[in-house]
Amino acid sequence: MRKSVPEFALQNMFIEFSGFMQNAQNNMFKIHNPVEYAYDSIFRLSEFTSNAFDHLVRHHNDAIDFYLAPHADHVTSQPVNKFESVKSGRIETGYVAVVTGGIGGIGSEICKRLYNDGHQVIATYITFEKDLAKIWQTNQGKDGYEIDIIECDVTDFESCKKMSTKLESTYHRIDILVNCAGITRDATLRNMEQDKWHAVLDTNLDSVFNVTRNFINGMIHRGYGRIINISSVNGQKGQFGQTNYSTAKAGTIGFSKSLALELADSGITVNTVCPGYVGTSMVETLPEEIKNSIIAKIPMGRLAKPAEVAAAVAFLADENAGYITGSDISVNGGLFTGVA
Ligand code: NDP
Repeated sequence: MRKSVPEFALQNMFIEFSGFMQNAQNNMFKIHNPVEYAYDSIFRLSEFTSNAFDHLVRHHNDAIDFYLAPHADHVTSQPVNKFESVKSGRIETGYVAVVTGGIGGIGSEICKRLYNDGHQVIATYITFEKDLAKIWQTNQGKDGYEIDIIECDVTDFESCKKMSTKLESTYHRIDILVNCAGITRDATLRNMEQDKWHAVLDTNLDSVFNVTRNFINGMIHRGYGRIINISSVNGQKGQFGQTNYSTAKAGTIGFSKSLALELADSGITVNTVCPGYVGTSMVETLPEEIKNSIIAKIPMGRLAKPAEVAAAVAFLADENAGYITGSDISVNGGLFTGVA
């Protein structure tokens, strides 16, 4: 848990930095005569300086965020303990979770599972689905799931920024982020128009940047987070007619592994879940013969249930999964047992 940012954090940072620079100067003179070895000395000095910056960035996140972060006034120093509140007679003792594409087939199950695990859950929906989202929310409510909804087009950075700002100011914390929004626009590459390529890359890959980028400063500031990105078996193994989709989903895996490294010492884990074929409209709407040929190739002989994908997400979202980062969980009935 990070403390709030007091003035002295910045002071400490400058004192430490001056110390680094003094050492760098001493070492440089010890190792090099600056006149004879001017170039070498300059390289050494820049190496010392960049090491000093690295150290400062790693160890003084709070001060840097506080003074430089664009949303500094929205972040909170509220301790990252589980919250406790009573909502609709239910004692909630979890974290706050956002699920993009939360009203879709897999997203809905993820929302319900995270809710059952005691978290406060917010599902995002795309603007033109506002009415559908409200009906979805009412139906969830009837089944006992009190899930909030918020509008966001994940392909639009500004829309994601607006959504994150609103949620941070309402909830003062977002602890769990599930990037689940996605689409397919299949065609072999020789027949693929640019719009299909861009639509799939924008919705499945750029979206992960757009949304995550707008939430990580808050998570870093609070020193806790669980980011789970929904990729696909077809991002791991490739798929005929899906150069766009497979590229986006493979990119999601690379993104997650890289971000996992950047955030490893910040209390934030970043992982992917790679579903195989799941019984949602994305697959159910395929022509019957294609669907049957897919099922015939799955060793378990059936599609995944959305709840089975949600179970993997919930596992990674748990605070006890804090040592798992940069990983990829396959939920594919044995369809692909290699690694991406
Ligand atoms: P759904 O189509 O049921 O859900 C996807 C959701 O994302 C929909 O609610 C959709 O809204 C929303 N969405 C699409 N574009 C945007 C956007 N620009 N901004 C905000 N939301 C958007 O699909 P699934 O539940 O099956 O898929 C969920 C995730 O799982 C996807 O990332 C998918 O690629 C992945 N996946 C699915 C598999 C499957 O077999 N179903 C297999 C492997 C991975 P709208 O309905 O308006 O398009």
